[in-house]
Amino acid sequence: MLEIKDLNVSYGMVNALKGIDLKVNDGEIVTIIGANGAGKSTTLMTISGILKPKKGYIKFDDVDITKKPAQNIVDMGICQVPEGRRIFANMTVMENLEMGAYLRKDKTVKNDMEKVFHLFPRLKERHKQIAGTLSGGEQQMLAIGRALMSKPKVLLLDEPSMGLAPIVVQDIFKTIKGINEDGTTILLVEQNAKMALSIADRAYVLETGNISLEGAASVLKDDERVKKSYLGG
Ligand code: ATP
Repeated sequence: MLEIKDLNVSYGMVNALKGIDLKVNDGEIVTIIGANGAGKSTTLMTISGILKPKKGYIKFDDVDITKKPAQNIVDMGICQVPEGRRIFANMTVMENLEMGAYLRKDKTVKNDMEKVFHLFPRLKERHKQIAGTLSGGEQQMLAIGRALMSKPKVLLLDEPSMGLAPIVVQDIFKTIKGINEDGTTILLVEQNAKMALSIADRAYVLETGNISLEGAASVLKDDERVKKSYLGG
């Protein structure tokens, strides 16, 4: 579904990605784990079309999207939930969700909002609340819910666990698994390797712009190098 080949991305003199290859198959949860600054967010932003690579390509369902504008990429069915959530803080929960469906031409928006409320009952209870006053976990739920309103084929999630209490993280990850079981393919970037490997089918380890390891999540979870560097020994 997504195929990345020899991707090189730089910020001026800083080479953030040094030729990575990565694949996401239809229906999978794939995770990219790695330390701060490894290039995880850069990878997602390049898939989304926000950053343009120096070299390499990205294909989505065999179509080269490397040079397409970000908006076209969303229209094709790739939607990113950015790090730090970036919801519309002054709008209500419902207005935020409506914004997620803004570019859709079909008329099933109401129905899809009900689906989001079913996934996140907490958002339903708070549908009139100003989004900026939600808790961190609720804002993360809203950011994911808003992305789902665009009916993506692939959801790109950038560190959904960031800044959240362990119990809330568990909740969010359970929901991510559920979204995948309902048919959405997921590429998940995480520093919380333990949680990410627990729900993913396959994983890539990114180290300063290179993929150092890849494989089935169940295998990498027991890999000594992964244990030592990313799972706290
Ligand atoms: P984190 O988990 O801390 O967000 P990350 O794995 O997502 O890390 P990136 O944000 O992709 O890492 O950053 C990769 C490298 O690119 C880092 O060395 C970072 O300093 C650099 N970088 C990122 N954004 C910029 C920018 N706008 N200008 C210059 N360098 C940048």
